[in-house]
Amino acid sequence: MIRFHNVTKMYPPKTMAVKNVTLEIGQGEFVSLVGTSGAGKTTLAKLLIAQERPTVGKIYAGDFEVTRLRRGELPFFRRQIGVVFQDFKLLNKKTVFENVAFALEVCGAPPKRIEQVVPAVLNIVGLGNKLTNFPYELSGGEQQRVVIARALVHQPKVIIADEPTGNLDSINAQDVIDVLLKINGFGTTVILVTHNREIVNGLKKRVVLMHQGEIMSDKAKG
Ligand code: ADP
Repeated sequence: MIRFHNVTKMYPPKTMAVKNVTLEIGQGEFVSLVGTSGAGKTTLAKLLIAQERPTVGKIYAGDFEVTRLRRGELPFFRRQIGVVFQDFKLLNKKTVFENVAFALEVCGAPPKRIEQVVPAVLNIVGLGNKLTNFPYELSGGEQQRVVIARALVHQPKVIIADEPTGNLDSINAQDVIDVLLKINGFGTTVILVTHNREIVNGLKKRVVLMHQGEIMSDKAKG
């Protein structure tokens, strides 16, 4: 489903962020990508969504060869992958509903579809009762679940969440992880970038450990 083949990413002048990585992730897997800061985790995620291009190597996702996508194909490709990155903030002047709807509006979705999809994805993340609230009225964990809902609007085959629990206390963090597990239960592949040991240990799912750009270990039930 997802395949990195001998991928190296060099940032100028000479940072080897990712070093000769070969990795396969099957449809429906839940994979935690762990490692200390600077290990190359975010770079790997950015390579997968074609936000960065590898210096060497090939990346495949579903029917796409990510490394050969043309600019015009990117929007379509990116709809297949839901992204939850820390710097994707909510719009403070928009309600929860409007924040999620916005992701559909920018793609030209008709109002009828928006009316259908937005409450559905907010129900999935357990926020069906907060449609008219504003982000500042929500806890950090709830805000992060809105971000996840927004990533779900195009029914992606893959969700990549980069440190989604980064700023959360352990109860809110667990709520976010439970939502990711639920989405995974629908058959969506989940890639969770984290350095939260407690969460990874609790998951008992596949763990890929990166260090200085390389994959140091890959355990089925880490
Ligand atoms: P992680 O997500 O594991 O913390 P990153 O992928 O963010 O690691 O970073 C891997 C390495 O690449 C680090 O040394 C980092 O400083 C470097 N790096 C990341 N992004 C850039 C960039 N845009 N330009 C230059 N160096 C970068």
